[in-house]
Amino acid sequence: MVTFIGAGPGAVDLITVRGKTLLETADIVIYAGSLVNPGLLDYTKKTCEIFNSAEMTLEQVIAVMERGEREQKSTVRLHTGDPSIYGAIREQMDMLIERGIEYTVVPGVSSFCGAAAALKAEYTLPDVSQTLILTRMEGRTPVPEREEISKLASHKSSMALFLSSSLLEELSRRLVAGGYEANTPAAIVYKATWPDEKIVRTCVGELYTAAKENNINKTALILVGDFLGSEYSRSKLYDPTFSHEFREAVK
Ligand code: SAH
Repeated sequence: MVTFIGAGPGAVDLITVRGKTLLETADIVIYAGSLVNPGLLDYTKKTCEIFNSAEMTLEQVIAVMERGEREQKSTVRLHTGDPSIYGAIREQMDMLIERGIEYTVVPGVSSFCGAAAALKAEYTLPDVSQTLILTRMEGRTPVPEREEISKLASHKSSMALFLSSSLLEELSRRLVAGGYEANTPAAIVYKATWPDEKIVRTCVGELYTAAKENNINKTALILVGDFLGSEYSRSKLYDPTFSHEFREAVK
């Protein structure tokens, strides 16, 4: 059996209980060494074979899983954050299906959640934004034309940008071209929930300078939107004058 597990954003105690239990019993672990906290490997048993996928091709990863299956071992594929976001798990799952190998997926805390916690922020504020866009600038992986940043920016929603912290001049340009004011609040969260986490509060127009001043060019999320500002409306859910399924309005 192969299990894809979300390792969480960094801190070793932010993996799920289920993920940790599976790590503790795994015979083989293939972890994404570029971003997964190696401290998580301390949960594995002494005899566990460990592979760093940063040094491997897809074919090599699958070959390790296939061998594990032949030897009736339990294999954990450990991905950073939640595996469904920029995890490249689909291609692995499809190759396992072709080979008749069973697998399951255990979710993880994505870095966009870790970053919000670090900032003590809420993405979905009444009268500010009820939408969070998760996206990225194109790199070696292209982004479909219809999802180009300036098009997404026209919504002026809350936005979390992955894999983009080395492209901030162009990112700012596109965000402003799309509709955000240059002074819209923004934040750069480097290594959210890691011991060396760094938070830089800035605005859309200053992203590049702010990152440069703080020597940040990787392992960071860029968060953009008025949810980082001070204005919002109270929720209806906890409004004393509002009744709902579980509570009568206070008269
Ligand atoms: N599956 C992961 C994302 C992998 S893509 C998740 O759910 O978080 C890798 C990108 O994620 C990095 O370039 C960076 O933008 C972001 N990232 C991952 N971990 C991070 C962290 N602890 N703090 C800030 N950004 C992080």
